[in-house]
Amino acid sequence: MSKVEFNKETGPREVFCGLTSIVWLHRRMPDAFFLVVGSRTCAHLIQSAAGVMIFAEPRFGTAILEEKDLAGLADAHEELDRVVNDLIARRPEIKTLFLVGSCPSEVIKLDLATVAEKLNKRFLGQVRFVNYSGSGIETTFTQGEDGALKALIPLMDSSDGEKLLLVGTLANNVEDRFKKIFRNLGISNIESFPPRQSTELPKIGKNTKVLLTQPYLSETVRDLKHRGCEIISAPFPLGIEGSTEWFLAAAKAFKISELKVHEIISPLINRAKLALESHKEILKGKRLFLLPESQLEISLARFLHNECEMDLIEVGTPYLNKDLMKEEIKLLPDNTKIVEGQHVEKQLDRVRESNPDLVVCGMGLANPLEAEGISTKWSIEMVFSPIHGIDQAADLAGLFSKPLKRSQILTSKTLVTH
Ligand code: SF4
Repeated sequence: MSKVEFNKETGPREVFCGLTSIVWLHRRMPDAFFLVVGSRTCAHLIQSAAGVMIFAEPRFGTAILEEKDLAGLADAHEELDRVVNDLIARRPEIKTLFLVGSCPSEVIKLDLATVAEKLNKRFLGQVRFVNYSGSGIETTFTQGEDGALKALIPLMDSSDGEKLLLVGTLANNVEDRFKKIFRNLGISNIESFPPRQSTELPKIGKNTKVLLTQPYLSETVRDLKHRGCEIISAPFPLGIEGSTEWFLAAAKAFKISELKVHEIISPLINRAKLALESHKEILKGKRLFLLPESQLEISLARFLHNECEMDLIEVGTPYLNKDLMKEEIKLLPDNTKIVEGQHVEKQLDRVRESNPDLVVCGMGLANPLEAEGISTKWSIEMVFSPIHGIDQAADLAGLFSKPLKRSQILTSKTLVTH
């Protein structure tokens, strides 16, 4: 294990809330609807985050809690009932309706679990209701997916059949490529969670071997373990190194030889190494500061150092599950400084003091930092882009080389005009 320095920090935070995850979850499961039980602020957040969908018939909406609901003067249940009845009458294609809690619904202690239970009885055989929290109180945006998946686990039937279960949302084309590689390795029974249709939930049990595709699913992992699933310990499939180790870990769990894995993925690795070169030229030796937001920071730091030769100043992460991250942490260079949690002002002071070439951060911090002449990359882009797998390594590096290239061009233009 490399000698990594662990630190913790608490204080003011600057992150997106779990409602944001609806943007990628509703694309993944087109037969599901996400009904946010929240305020007008929540409605604005989700509409602007998924703005492109507004012109289509959207698969998310908000039951607005008015001020009188928040003051306890009105029955929020009535408004929720009205919205749900209207929705189901208009949209017969909805098969699963997620009731998504928010800060306001948590503040007034609206019991969405009981609401979901009652609705399940009323609409039995027509629509399934599940609830989870997307609130921004003490959580970050990727935890929305963790909450949604955890809420689906009780609906999954049991089976003792051996299978590989990929857990965490992937872009469909990336998922297809992964499945093809696993089939070539000789693993035939492969399923994904979340599935592409909310009604096609995989069956799970003691012979289900779970391979995580995303590092932010701690709660989901805990409940899958309770159902008897085996969790395969591996780094995450970002970059060539992470993806290779990920395939090797799965192969080991299914008693497939390392040699066979290398035979199948070697051509992909050779292509990816070539494609990475031009990005590495820009990234090499550049100093990187990752502020905590997506929980992907440790995997990104490992990729950007080991494969793109960037220097790591600080690796922030909103939460650190040392068990899920242990294979990643082993791959980090000695003396990497990991900071769990956030005191945004202190972190910004450290950013300014260290004068990095690139900062990975939330959208709210990016503009002020850019105004100070510091190049940034929005961490939320990592969950909206297909970045997983060996073939995607160059695209992943490209997300970081692009802002540096842009600032180089701007600097050279400024030099010419002066
Ligand atoms: S859930 Fe909370 S943090 Fe998220 S938009 Fe609503 S009020 Fe804001």
